Formats: sequence, structure tokens, C-alpha cells
Amino acid sequence: MNDLKRSDFEVNRLGKATLLSPIFKNYAEEAPDKEFIDDSRRIIFDASIEAYNANKESSEDPISFLKAGARKEIYFDPSKTKAAIVTCGGLCPGINNVIRGLVNGLYYRYKVRNIWGIQYGYQGFIPEYGHEMIKLSPDVVKDIHLFGGTILGSSRGRQDISAMVDALERENINILFTIGGDGTLAGNHVINEEIKRRGLKIVTAGIPKTIDNDVNFMTKTFGFDTAFTTAAAVVRDAHNEATGAYNGVAIVKLMGRDSGFIAANAALAMPDVNFVLVPESKFDLHGEKGFLAALKSRVVDRHHALVVVAEGAGQHLFDEGDEVKDKSGNVKHKDIGVFLKDEIGKFFTGEGIEATVKYIDPSYIIRSEVAIPADSVFCNDLALNAVHGAMAGLTDFVVGRWHNQFTYLPIPVATASRKKIDVDGSLWWSVLETTGQPINMTNEKK
Ligand code: ATP
Ligand code: MG
Repeated sequence: MNDLKRSDFEVNRLGKATLLSPIFKNYAEEAPDKEFIDDSRRIIFDASIEAYNANKESSEDPISFLKAGARKEIYFDPSKTKAAIVTCGGLCPGINNVIRGLVNGLYYRYKVRNIWGIQYGYQGFIPEYGHEMIKLSPDVVKDIHLFGGTILGSSRGRQDISAMVDALERENINILFTIGGDGTLAGNHVINEEIKRRGLKIVTAGIPKTIDNDVNFMTKTFGFDTAFTTAAAVVRDAHNEATGAYNGVAIVKLMGRDSGFIAANAALAMPDVNFVLVPESKFDLHGEKGFLAALKSRVVDRHHALVVVAEGAGQHLFDEGDEVKDKSGNVKHKDIGVFLKDEIGKFFTGEGIEATVKYIDPSYIIRSEVAIPADSVFCNDLALNAVHGAMAGLTDFVVGRWHNQFTYLPIPVATASRKKIDVDGSLWWSVLETTGQPINMTNEKK
């Protein structure tokens, strides 16, 4: 829990919500019992009976998250509200679905008519880049869920915070929705700090975009289901490549900078995989208990092998060279897929075994896929809940999902650390049991 306290989970609010929501007005007559959420409603973090019993002795409430959903009272008057949407960082399936959900939620649920798209990420706020804002309406976004990518474009690289808030002020924007990863959300938070410093009446809301599913306190982030579903199809094809040659070895590299959830889930979905290599589980290449020895025994036994590797796995195997960073300052990983292909080839030659090694990297195809139906539903719900929270005056928050409920979390809590595979937990044990790979592929004694 990183020493987080109960109070760290309080979402900030710009001011008291005093206006009756159009949603409430709409339902009041026909459906007076429709549920509305208020700020006292919370979703508990640990739903186990052990945690419940342990907490009985404590005078403090257990850790819990604010429940998302439509509020009866809202902060912003829809007829005077101007909203903007920006997408930053790498592509992920479902971004367009989220944009569509935000626009339609604002327009139809709340009757907000002034909705704008900021182009090419945070660059779009900086006049020097010359990216015009795009007016958004249900008509503009009606078909965008049929396409991958983002209709607004994206970018990396730091922009001046003060200049971005100048743009928000100049354009009289009241609500800013950011769709992006840890960098975007960190940006959202500092924009918010500057808004507070200037005493502006602007809220910022984030919809976390991380294909790796690595946000803490969230069961799932959008795009993840599409990513591993698409990855599973590639893994299936790779299996055909492996079995199609005597001593065939196929390697598929999947996304997962620090967390190997896509690799683990794709392998569970396509249980022909024999080895899953993830950043969370260190492995040696050589030596009696290393990966290559285990691979050799598999190939000698069955004459084919299928390896799935997450991009952040095995980074310790590279010589310490100059760290390469992208424009946003994210460390760029060395290519473990190409490295493994070469090392496996050399190793089998050295062992006098004729093997055929095939390497597949579908990353860019997966990132730009169209969301599968389960993700489309999820994106739409995330977007609608972001709209509910923002219209109610909540700020500096992200929408999450926990125990099958939508939640609001303060951005600093959501970005404090990454969610990773627990190598002693049930997901990783399923992977070990499904693949049959050794529990430990290092030469160290555990
Ligand atoms: P991905 O998961 O694809 O990396 P991301 O949102 O983390 O998504 P980045 O390129 O790292 O993508 O960041 C997106 C934008 O946020 C960039 O313009 C970056 O400069 C900006 N940003 C990142 N960190 C901060 C920060 N601490 N303060 C202000 N802006 C930031
Ligand atoms: Mg990032």
C-alpha cells in the first residue's frame, strides 16, 4: 500500500455542487427511484473477511475509494460549460471510444454544447505549434469507435505548464479531460496545481490509458482486454510457425514495460506457450538452471517451443550502455526479442542442434487495434463516469474500476507506483502451471 493513508484517497472538489443535474430532472418524474450517488458512497479496498475483522479494532475507516456515478447535484451549469479533451502518449485500443463516450455523455446526458478536442497531446495547448482546436459533437464522433488510434492525435515531450494553463484560461475552458498514461496524468496533476495556484474554476479529470494494465488500485484499464485478445491470436499463429519446423522455436514479443500482464494473459488464453518471460521474474540466460537450458530440454523432448516475452523482461542481460530515453523522458528498453532470437540461434548452433528460430513483434498492430466489444463497453462507462465526476465539480481525479464498481481516485494515488504481477500470486502460478516452465530460471538458490 506504499504507506498510503485513508486521507490520501480523498478526491478534491472545486466547490459545492448546488445545481440540479439534468439527469435527475430527466428521471424525476418517470423513474423517481433511480439511484444517484453522493460523496459518502465508497468502495472498500480489501473486501476480505480477514481485513474486516482486523479493522474492527481500529478507530479509523479502512481504505476505500469514492464511488463513481451520476450525482443529483452538479457544480457546472451545462449551458455555460466548455469542455476540452486531450490524448497523449502511445496509442492504445479504445481511445476513440473514450472520446466518443465523453462527447456523447456531455452532450446528451448534461446538454453541454461547447466541447473541444485539443490536437496532438499537450502540444495542442501551445500556440507556437499551430494545432487548431477541433469542435466536437455527437455528429463528429459518431463513427470514430470503428477505428483504432486517436482522432485527436497524440504527442510526447514536456510542454510549459504555465503556457498550458494560459491556454485553458484564454479559451475559457471549465473541464479538461486527459486520456493518457502515467506521464499524461502527472501532467494533469501539475496543470491542476497551477489552476489551484491561480484560483481558477477549472476541473481536470483523467481516464488512465495504459495498455499494460499497470495502474494501482484498478482491476483493469481500457485497451488491455483488446491487447491480450489480439496478442493471443498472434501467439496462436506463432505456435503454427514453431510446430511447422523440426526443432522450431517461435518468439513473440508483447508490450509490458514494467508489468507483464499482457504476456501472462495472452499465454493463458493460448496455452500452447511454453515460456513466458516478464519483467517481474528475473531469469538467467546461461547456466544449468538458465532459460536456454530449459528451452533446450523442451526442444529436445518435443521438437518445438513457443516463447512469449514482455518488452521489459531480461533488461539486466544487456551491457550497461547509455540509457536511451524518449521525448517524454521514459526509458526506452533494449530489444529483448531480437536479442533472444540471436542468443537462442547461437546457443543451439553451439549445442550442435539444428533449430529454426522465428521472431514476431506485433506491438504496433496491437496498439492501434479497434477495441473489442468488452473494451467498448468499458470505455463508454469510464467516459460517462468521468463526465459525471467532472460535472459534479470533482477535480484532479481518475476514473477506476474496483470490485466491479467504478471509482474515483486522486491522481497522485493512481500514479504513485505501478501495478505489477505478484510472482507469488495466483496469476503467475497459473502461468507456471499452464506453461510448465521452471519456477526459477536463475542459477541462484531461492
Ligand atoms: P504512455 O503510457 O504511452 O507512455 P504517457 O501518458 O505516460 O503514455 P508520456 O509521453 O510519458 O506518455 O507523457 C505524455 C505527456 O505528458 C508528454 O507530453 C509528457 O511530456 C507529459 N508529462 C509527463 N510527465 C510529466 C510531468 N511530470 N509534468 C508535466 N508533464 C508531464
Ligand atoms: Mg508513460
